[in-house]
Amino acid sequence: MINDRPWKRFSFAAVVAFICFAVTALGQQRPAPDLILSNGKIITVDNRFAIAQAVAVRADRIVAVGTNQEIAQLAGPNTRRIDLGGKAVLPGLIDAHAHLMRGAETWTSEARFDDVTSRKQALEIVRTKATALGPGQWVYNLGGWSYDQFADNPTPLTKQELDQAAPNNPVYVQFSRCCAFMNTKGVEAMGLASMNQPWIERDSSGKPTGRINDPGLGQMANKIPRPSKDTYLASATTMIKDLNRVGLTTAGISGCPKDDTDVYQEMKRKGELSFRFMCMVSAGGGGGGGPDALKRTAEQIGQIKLFQGDDYIDDVMYGESIALGDNMLAPHTSYTPEQMANWRLLATEVAKHGMPLQQHATISETFSAFLDQIEIINKEYPIRNLRWAFAHDDQLSADDLVRMKKLGMWAAVRAIPPVMGAIFNRVHGDRSYDMPPLRMIQDSGIMWGFHTDTNEVNQYNPFVTLWFAVTGKMLGGRVVNHQTITREEALIAHTRSNSFFVMREGDLGSIQPGKLADLVVLDRDYLTVPADQIKDIKPVTTIVGGKVVYDAQAKEISRASR
Ligand SMILES: [Zn+2]
Repeated sequence: MINDRPWKRFSFAAVVAFICFAVTALGQQRPAPDLILSNGKIITVDNRFAIAQAVAVRADRIVAVGTNQEIAQLAGPNTRRIDLGGKAVLPGLIDAHAHLMRGAETWTSEARFDDVTSRKQALEIVRTKATALGPGQWVYNLGGWSYDQFADNPTPLTKQELDQAAPNNPVYVQFSRCCAFMNTKGVEAMGLASMNQPWIERDSSGKPTGRINDPGLGQMANKIPRPSKDTYLASATTMIKDLNRVGLTTAGISGCPKDDTDVYQEMKRKGELSFRFMCMVSAGGGGGGGPDALKRTAEQIGQIKLFQGDDYIDDVMYGESIALGDNMLAPHTSYTPEQMANWRLLATEVAKHGMPLQQHATISETFSAFLDQIEIINKEYPIRNLRWAFAHDDQLSADDLVRMKKLGMWAAVRAIPPVMGAIFNRVHGDRSYDMPPLRMIQDSGIMWGFHTDTNEVNQYNPFVTLWFAVTGKMLGGRVVNHQTITREEALIAHTRSNSFFVMREGDLGSIQPGKLADLVVLDRDYLTVPADQIKDIKPVTTIVGGKVVYDAQAKEISRASR
């Protein structure tokens, strides 16, 4: 099915929808729009980056974009009107790679520090959570922040200050995949004193300091009791509100277990789903387990059927990894010939079955190792039109880009330095200022989009990503990247280009007739606000499929307000 690319039908559907509207409009029997937004600055992010004044929506699609006058003529007696009062409007923002289904499980239970730039405030979050839960309950978060983002004191959290914030609760707060910090009760509950592990930090007398490092994180975090399954729906509902609140309307999802997708399917049936989940599928297994396991995984890949879903939930690509993954904080530099042979065998299956692929890759050696294999695969099964991409791309080089372009590959770029910029500098030195090499990627002309990889390793606010891309700064204000791009380039990567990465370019990513009406009204103009304020931009209204799903005026219960 290499020549039968299923995502094409979505563009086709949009074209048909537009033609139907245009034809009825010409016949003077045009059905009036349900909704008109006018008197605004509509940043369409179409191919010309056109700016319009007004947009008309019927059912879940955009039917017209133009001047106030042109759009006003379309109104009928029942058309709802929103006067934008000059405000800027963007297409719904798309995160091309996020771990949101995993994140939803603990979304409301965690004491998160996303985008918190004050240590005092972080400790206040711990204190508030402890008070709300009562003595003895775990106060925890599972990543998404670093102590480097605390402008008032960017140093590791101490056992003493966590004791002060929550004297009667065990506390565990995790700095992405670096390390975690516990108070006295947390150290006791984990039993650290009697454990003999090199990743437990100890003081000169041998007592645990409260800090642990990777690879101990997963093992320790798993000891914290998780919320029961019946709280998943409520937690996921709050997560989606929070995503809509920051202007996100779609994400490529790494990991969509059936238990979780069932919950979103049910929300959709009730007409309550306001976020689009475009899933990566993987056969699991892979590298280890010997030839039989490898053969089974290869067979499973052949049985995967993509594009069986709809505009809200669908399986759209293979990912995020075939057998191998690397780690920016523990860079190892070599793969065995056997590992690479196994990788190629499975990747060949993905190519043979015509599937798009996002392959996790962060450190230099990984790109060349995979490219060597892909060039071999490409001779037998050309991948040019399959939308194969490396996901993350922190240490992508100029040579890698040349080879990728030759193969027709794309770059799914992770904007992780807002949280991890300083630690990347400690681990990788000056090279970190070119990670990821945004300017070079943009200038190469390769198709590329932005993602966060939230929620364990990064924050999720797209305006923080856009601010980072334009200023090179991490949360807290330090410059951590020298390869900045323009705000137009950054926005295109987070909207129109990302619509290709979720295989929905006919439906999403720009404000154009025929596309789904996913729109975000902003409190200030993204194109003219001082660059340092881009991270502070707040949507006032978010619309998904023509429905207002977030309204800043209405009081919403969000994680941020807990
Ligand atoms: Zn990921």
